[in-house]
Amino acid sequence: MTSCKEFHRRSIEDRDGFWTEQAALVDWHKPFSKVLDYSRPPFAKWFVGGETNLCHNAVDRHLAARGDQKAIVYISTEVDREISYTYRELHAEVNRLAAIMLGMGVKRGDRVIIYMPMIPEAAFAMLACARIGAIHSVVFGGFAAASLAARIDDAKPSLMITSDAGMRAGKIVPYKHLVDESIRLAKHPPSKVLLVDRKLDPGMTRVEGRDADYATLRAQHMNAQVPVTWMESSEPSYILYTSGTTGHPKGVQRDVGGYTVALAASMKHIYCGAPGETMFTTSDIGWVVGHSYIIYGPLLAGMTSILYEGTPIRPDAGIWWKIVADHKVSVMFSAPTAIRVLKKQDPAFLKKYDLSALRHLFLAGEPLDEPTHSWITEALGRPVIDHYWQTETGWPILSSMPGIEATPVKFGSPSFPAYGYDLRLLRESDASDAADGEKGVVAIVPPLPPGCMTTVWGDDARFVKTYFSTFSSKQVYSTFDWGIRDKDGYYFILGRTDDVINVAGHRLGTREIEEAVSAHPNVAEVAVVGVADNLKGQLPIAFVVLKDVSRTATPELRAQAEKDVMATVDKQLGAIGRPGRVHFVTALPKTRSGKMLRRSIQALAEGRDPGDLTTIEDPTALEQIKSVLAAK
Ligand code: AMP
Repeated sequence: MTSCKEFHRRSIEDRDGFWTEQAALVDWHKPFSKVLDYSRPPFAKWFVGGETNLCHNAVDRHLAARGDQKAIVYISTEVDREISYTYRELHAEVNRLAAIMLGMGVKRGDRVIIYMPMIPEAAFAMLACARIGAIHSVVFGGFAAASLAARIDDAKPSLMITSDAGMRAGKIVPYKHLVDESIRLAKHPPSKVLLVDRKLDPGMTRVEGRDADYATLRAQHMNAQVPVTWMESSEPSYILYTSGTTGHPKGVQRDVGGYTVALAASMKHIYCGAPGETMFTTSDIGWVVGHSYIIYGPLLAGMTSILYEGTPIRPDAGIWWKIVADHKVSVMFSAPTAIRVLKKQDPAFLKKYDLSALRHLFLAGEPLDEPTHSWITEALGRPVIDHYWQTETGWPILSSMPGIEATPVKFGSPSFPAYGYDLRLLRESDASDAADGEKGVVAIVPPLPPGCMTTVWGDDARFVKTYFSTFSSKQVYSTFDWGIRDKDGYYFILGRTDDVINVAGHRLGTREIEEAVSAHPNVAEVAVVGVADNLKGQLPIAFVVLKDVSRTATPELRAQAEKDVMATVDKQLGAIGRPGRVHFVTALPKTRSGKMLRRSIQALAEGRDPGDLTTIEDPTALEQIKSVLAAK
């Protein structure tokens, strides 16, 4: 048996041989002529000249051997439903939706924005796009109309697919009217909207001539057969927007061939998901984890994937373990925040169900603290694998690889570099290699492996500037995370090097939240920082300077002003960006050159030393921060 070290070494030193072997895990309509074209660094083109299709590999390929096996099991504790789709049924649904989309004029290369709750039609929509070569961009349902409009203007979709509403913890969350509002705000709105009416929102309205009804059109295409569009390997498969240091989210663009191969390989070597088994990933299709490991990964592997609409604690905190038992889940993937939520519940729920099919629980998206890691490992009695990756990479950067070799787990560490990643820890000062035990920036020597982002949608220059320009002396990909490596080669992630924060595993730019706060007409200036939180990892806290300070003259007025600012963020960005607290001050601490001292504010909010303040312009601004925090 190969060791992880040897597997990794070969992936870097014999890149072409290694990835040629992995590429054999998927079907190619036309074989590739070259494994990698790296003639224009840092842009990498994988499996050049090859033609394949994600939908074919995820669905059609399995029809012969597992047509009657369940492909997707939709479980909703919100609307109390469970529906299974075999591979054959999934194939039929995807063909119907592909035919509907073609009928609505969607062409290869067109963008389709999917703004949907966790329902099977969302999966059909993604796969139907892949089938016809349209580029999907799934937007998480928690984003508000203005955020959605910004994504519409960047992607310029020809179609949006949505639903009347979602449900969260028993409450109806309207989607359609946010879509209407976003289309009103957008400069490049789509001409068509396809609407899956769940009949949850009786107040929903339709726009004549623009909105088409999915159920009606589906009935007209029951026997549709839409041939797969074979895509050149490096053609785009999808765009997924993610937050960064600016207020404008970046469209992470992925290819077809590299992504298909990378996911198929990860299912084998990392997740150990065998055909016929069941995988349960508790994320949402709006995030990269949902793309890779609710939809594409498990289906590429011929597994059954659970699509869960609901929370981890309804109807009770045993619901996920009940699903694991009922469906004999062998691979589960969740996030540390969810486990911290479950840790607060009665531990008896974990003992109530037969979890014997479960081999591993994988966790990612945010730092996994040692107490939570050891608690869940003990409670489950099987390996809990912390692994580290990003929207940009699409699959794990740091992970153990139980499909290659069982290696010891170290609590608090996502283990070591996954194959394909030439990972470095670099000193911030001069890009030299940090020693074991020394903090450095986690960086990847390009080319990025297959499956990673290929560029920023519509903006090659931004791709290079954002990710490859951290060090002037070396063109390396920066993850914007600090890390440290121990003498055994295990890495520990220490937090971001930029102003990005991580709330319950969701990445948010403080700049993005600041822009949302600034939309309030009485806000003159704002600083948002991420503050450590026991449950969610981090929480955004806002410090606001108002134009009219009389609005905060009394505690009642202050409370009202705080509510108003929060409501503005809900409306602009969505409730996921809502600050945990809004504090009012009359000045914000800045350097004499006008740079906001965010790190110092954050340190104070976390009860730490604010650091070097020699460059501060107005020391009383910091005193104000201290006093509003003390008064909380
Ligand atoms: P996203 O692209 O939204 O998934 O966010 C990626 C970021 O989440 C990374 O850059 C890290 O800051 C953080 N992250 C993801 N997984 C882990 C992990 N296992 N441990 C620590 N931080 C993580």
